[in-house]
Amino acid sequence: SIVVTGATGQLGRLVIADLLTRVPAESVVAVVRDKARAADLAERGVELRVADYSAPETLAGAFEAGDRVLLISGSEVGQRVAQHRAVIDAAKAAGVAQLAYTGILGGPAADFTLADEHKATEELILASGLPYTFLRNGWYTENYTANLAPVLAHGAVVANAGEGRVASASRADYAAAAAAVLTGPAEEHLNRAYELSGDTAWSLAEYAAEVAAQTGREITYSDVPAATHLEILTGAGVPQAFAEILVDVDRAIALGALALQTGDLARLTGRPTTPIAETIKDALAAS
Ligand code: NDP
Repeated sequence: SIVVTGATGQLGRLVIADLLTRVPAESVVAVVRDKARAADLAERGVELRVADYSAPETLAGAFEAGDRVLLISGSEVGQRVAQHRAVIDAAKAAGVAQLAYTGILGGPAADFTLADEHKATEELILASGLPYTFLRNGWYTENYTANLAPVLAHGAVVANAGEGRVASASRADYAAAAAAVLTGPAEEHLNRAYELSGDTAWSLAEYAAEVAAQTGREITYSDVPAATHLEILTGAGVPQAFAEILVDVDRAIALGALALQTGDLARLTGRPTTPIAETIKDALAAS
C-alpha cells in the first residue's frame, strides 16, 4: 500500500487527493490521529490507520512490509525528532519498501533553527538503512498568503528578510511531487534527495507589489531590524519561541537560504510550479 501520515493536515489531504487520481483508493492508506476527521477519506475507499507520533505503541500497526510510506513532518516544533524517530522505528520494524520524508530545502546545508529537526530526521532515516526519498520542501506560498489580513490592514508586508528571494511553490505543487515519488517505479526515487522549490524566486517587495496590484491598495514592503520584527510578532500574539524561529528564518532568507532552485519540483510533477500571483488571487477570493 501507499501510506501517508499526517493525512488530515493541509499537505496530507492534498497528497491523498493527488494519489487518488493516480492509483485505486484500495491501495491508499491514511495514517491519522483522529478517525472522525478522516471520515470523508474512508468514504472514498481509503483505509484509515490511527496513530500518534508521540505514542510509539500506536505506530505498531501503522505500516506493513512492502508499504511505500510518506512521513509528513509533524507540526509540534521541538518534539519532532523524538516523534519522527518513533515513526522511523515503526517503519523499520514493519519492513517498508520506501520511506519518503518531507524535509527542508537545502537539507544538511539549511542554516536556520527551524531546519534542525529536519536535518536530525534525515540522519535518523539514513541510519535506519531504509530505502528513502527526501522531499526537501521549500517554502509554501501559503505561508504568506495565510497572513494577508494584517498585510491589508496595515498596508505593509513586515519582515526582516532584506532583499532575500523565496522560491516558493503552492502546497498542491509539493503534494503532487510527493504523490509522484510514491507511485510508479520506486527504484527511480530510492535513496535520493530532491530539492523542491518554485520556478520563480521572488522578493518580499515583489510580493507586496503583487498584493497591491491585485487589491488596488497601497502595500509596501517594510524591511525592519530583526528585533523590531520580533516585537511586532510577539505583540500580535505569536508565542516568543515561535516568533524567534520566524525571525531566524527571515535572517536566513536574506542570505538566500530559501531561494535555491534546481527544477526538481517541476520535473517531478511534470508541470510548472504555481505562480505566487495565482496563490494570492485564490487567497483573496477566499477571504
Ligand atoms: P498541518 O499543520 O496542516 O499538518 C500537520 C500534520 O501533521 C497534521 O495532519 C497533523 O495531524 C500531523 N501531526 C502533527 N503532530 C502529530 C502527531 N503527534 N501524531 C500524528 N500526526 C501528527 O501542516 P501542513 O500540512 O501545512 O504541512 C505539513 C508539514 O510540513 C508540517 O507539519 C511541517 O512539518 C511542515 N511545514 C512546512 C512548511 C513549508 O513552508 N515548507 C510550512 C509549515 C509547515 P492532525 O491532522 O491530527 O492535526
